[in-house]
Order: sequence, then C-alpha cells, then structure tokens
Amino acid sequence: MGEARGRKSIFVTGAASGIGKATAKKFSEEGSKVVLSDLDEKGGQQVVDEIKSSGGDAIFVKTNVADPDSVKSLMDKAVEEYGKIDILHNNAGIDVGSDEVKDTVTEIPLHLWDKVIAVNLTGVFLCSRFAIPHMIKNGGGSIINTSSVGGLIGFPGLAAYQASKGGVVQLTKQMAVEYGKDNVRVNCVCPFLVDTPMLTEEEREDGIKAGVIDRIADASEIAHAVTFLAQDESGYITGTILTVDAGFVNTRK
Ligand code: NAD
Repeated sequence: MGEARGRKSIFVTGAASGIGKATAKKFSEEGSKVVLSDLDEKGGQQVVDEIKSSGGDAIFVKTNVADPDSVKSLMDKAVEEYGKIDILHNNAGIDVGSDEVKDTVTEIPLHLWDKVIAVNLTGVFLCSRFAIPHMIKNGGGSIINTSSVGGLIGFPGLAAYQASKGGVVQLTKQMAVEYGKDNVRVNCVCPFLVDTPMLTEEEREDGIKAGVIDRIADASEIAHAVTFLAQDESGYITGTILTVDAGFVNTRK
C-alpha cells in the first residue's frame, strides 16, 4: 500500500494515438499509474492493453475534452480509481484544415472555428479546471500542455489552429502565475513536426526542409520532453514554453 501510494497518478488526454499514446507509455515505463482518456475508445483501450501486457497499471476513460460533464466524470472516475491526480498532460487536439476546408479567417466555417477552439483550448481549460482542486488538495501537482510551434508563429492556412495553440501558450503562463503558490507547476511543449496521424504528407515533405535538423520527430521525443517537465527534479520549472522543434523557432530571425 505504501508503495502504491508513492506512485504517481497521471492523466493523459488524447492518449489513443500519437504523442498522447507515447507519453502514457513512457509514464507507465517510469512506474506511474496512468489514466488514458480520448474520444477513441477502441484505440485508447488498445493502448491500455499494451501497457498492462508490459506490467503497467492503466485505465481508459472515454472523454470529450470539450464537454464539461464528460471531463468532470473523467476526473471523478480517475480519482475514484487511483485516489489523486499528480500530473495532467493536456494533449488532445485537432486540426481541421484540408483541401476542401481552408482554415483561414475569411474561409473557415464558423462551426469548425468553434470546434477547434473548443477541443484545443477550452479542453485544456476544462481539464485543468477540474484537476487543479484535486492537485491542491493533495499538496500540489504538475500540468503539461501540448501547444505547437503554431502557438508561437504564423503559418498560412491554420488560423483556428494557431489561435487555439497561442491560447494554450498564454493559458499555460496564466495558470503558472495563478497556482504557483499552491505548488502546482504549469508548463507547455511546442512541437514542430511529429510522426503521428495528424501530420499531412505535404507537411511532412515541406516541413522537413524547414528545421535545423532535417527530419520529423518521433512521438517518443515529445514524450521525453513532457516527462522531463513532469519530474519532481524539474520542480523549479514553471511557466516555461519548451520548443521541441528541430530548432525551427529559435533559429529564425
Ligand atoms: P493524433 O491525431 O495522433 O492524436 C490526437 C488524439 O486526440 C486522437 O487520439 C484523438 O482521438 C484525440 N481527440 C481529438 N479530439 C478529442 C476530444 N474532443 N476529446 C478527447 N480526445 C480527442 O495527433 P498528435 O499529433 O498525437 O496530436 C497530439 C497533440 O499534439 C495535439 O494537441 C496536436 O495539436 C499537437 N501537435 C502535433 C504535432 C504533429 O506534428 N503531429 C505538432 C505540434 C503539435
């Protein structure tokens, strides 16, 4: 029981695929108990099965991060299962731009603008809103948000996406300021191109030429940054916006 109480309880949203899946697995390899949440029940349960077959401890809770009721029942279920929330990785995200739908201010349909903001930004707000009181009750915690280099600079055809990710950067700083006194640290990773289903062929081909390191990232490299920020040894780091981007942002003039 003492050992079980000492293990971290981790929440990862968007954990059925890509970066969230890699992060959930890495936290589990480090000995933590992991609550995976996603809209994709089949994919999420599959990741839980993989974690369990490697000896890890994990559960899946189907969640829509844009829906307050869904997020509240996620937190309730997870606290019921593992007793506390130590770390929250706000990672679920969508990108709606395509050949048919242009994500520009003048062209994106209003309902799609609303959807991107709801999932990518309001989702971070809601999960944090319900998790922070549990963290404070438990003496503190750590939140890591997945933004994007798109939250720091502009790209053509990504208006709603960039606006949502810019919001995540600012919300990270705001929550760091607000809850530092409660020992809740809040940081953010900004990946560039990561090998996940979200990346289009065009982004792959064009993007590879844009970084200082001419390849795209493996999702495990973003997971490494997330788990680094989550560690107790990173206790003096908060409000940090960590680019994980092949030098793309910081080497631009
Ligand atoms: P992905 O599509 O592989 O994973 C995203 C996951 O989020 C999916 O499993 C999806 O089902 C889930 N999801 C979508 N809407 C949801 C909702 N309303 N509620 C709960 N879950 C939902 O993509 P990924 O690349 O792993 O993306 C993870 C995060 O990384 C996103 O926030 C994305 O914007 C960000 N990001 C990705 C890249 C990249 O190149 N892949 C670059 C920068 C930032």
